[in-house]
Amino acid sequence: MAFENLSERLQAAMSKLRRKGTIKEADVKEMMREIRLALLEADVNLQVVRQFTKRVSERAVGAEVLETLNPTQQIVKIVDEELTKVLGSETAELNKSPKIPTIIMMVGLQGAGKTTFVGKLANYLKKNEKARPLMIAGDVYRPAAIDQLKVLGHQLDVPVFDMGTDHSPVEIVRQGLAVAKENRNDYVFIDTAGRLHIDETLMNELKEIQELAQPDEILLTVDAMTGQDAVTVAESFNEQLGITGVVVTKLDGDTRGGAALSIRAVTGKPIKFTGTGEKLTDIEVFHPDRMSSRILGMGDMLTLIEKAQQEYDEKKAEELARKMKEDSFDFNDFIEQLDQVMNMGPLEDLIKMMPGMSNVPGIDKLQVDPKDVARKKAMVFSMTPEERENPDLLNPSRRRRIAAGSGNSVVEVNRMIKSFNESRKMMQQMTKGNMPAGFDQMMG
Ligand code: GDP
Repeated sequence: MAFENLSERLQAAMSKLRRKGTIKEADVKEMMREIRLALLEADVNLQVVRQFTKRVSERAVGAEVLETLNPTQQIVKIVDEELTKVLGSETAELNKSPKIPTIIMMVGLQGAGKTTFVGKLANYLKKNEKARPLMIAGDVYRPAAIDQLKVLGHQLDVPVFDMGTDHSPVEIVRQGLAVAKENRNDYVFIDTAGRLHIDETLMNELKEIQELAQPDEILLTVDAMTGQDAVTVAESFNEQLGITGVVVTKLDGDTRGGAALSIRAVTGKPIKFTGTGEKLTDIEVFHPDRMSSRILGMGDMLTLIEKAQQEYDEKKAEELARKMKEDSFDFNDFIEQLDQVMNMGPLEDLIKMMPGMSNVPGIDKLQVDPKDVARKKAMVFSMTPEERENPDLLNPSRRRRIAAGSGNSVVEVNRMIKSFNESRKMMQQMTKGNMPAGFDQMMG
């Protein structure tokens, strides 16, 4: 996850203060020096760092802070508030048109993750608003981009309007919008061409599309891994087109992330969403306050809960609750549970969203190994339907058969059954209202 280093260093700088009995102005200065270095090393824009440290320093050395009972807590609060401000203060909602369709034009350099994001947002709106979007394939320079959009459309059951590569993008958009009107689609996504670098031809073409479509949103997709370039790209797209918002992708990567933190302050345009992986569900609404508290190691329970809700099918949850009550949790449910945890993303990232958990030693070792999950699934698939529904049937000879059938040793089969039984026990504990002792055990 991005911001890892930054997060560690900011927390270290503030915890030094925590260990002191009384805090003097010099201590705050020392902390600010460390915070400043941490931000610069994380690739945060110099101007942004200057403004941020100036504001925090001014507020932190004020008499009302140093003379309070718990000055460190006050200072952490100030850092949190100022970081939230840098990130944009308020959550920026998607601009919606009062009458349908809301037109969202996606722009960005090639490879930034534009097309993938169109799919993610379409999926997100379908799930959350039961939206009926139409996607327009406007990238006529890369036939692969049109195919990619069609594949996404097929996967999501969202119509894609395309005219191949022989028409001008403006013409395609004109006809696509007419189709959307006729079909009463509530959202239209225009996927436009990207280039490797910003060039005039591209900008002129985008301006033409903008003039014709009068989009409610022009969302610029930038790749967090490109560091300061992401800021430069955002500035120049904004100057030319007047973007309405930014999508920062690839925040799951091993990036320093600071550039992404600077975009809002430099362009004045809000980050609206982030991309956190290659899957269609790897999209997060950007909340400045939650991001700040995640970076400062104060956790982000709200996002964690929302993620769980997104992944959790309500019907399935009810079904599971019933099974838990009746103690009929079986191997079919076990498989479903494994899949669900895999879909939510790396366990490590999820746990870090809990307050106070980001610094727990060994947390980075807590990973769900997809190979391990695949092995467990192979074993369950080697069971007969009766065995899956009735785990108590699994005597030694059946276990030997399952081991042979799935290409594992009996020891491994025994271990998997043990981990299943632990899950089952945990479910029972939860129905009795107790929190389980450690939910990592669930994964064995
Ligand atoms: P476009 O040229 O801007 O349309 O970019 P694409 O949507 O084709 O994405 C380029 C590559 O980035 C693809 O391999 C995507 O799978 C990948 N990608 C997009 N968004 C993310 C993200 O949030 N995280 C990661 N890790 N990869 C992403």
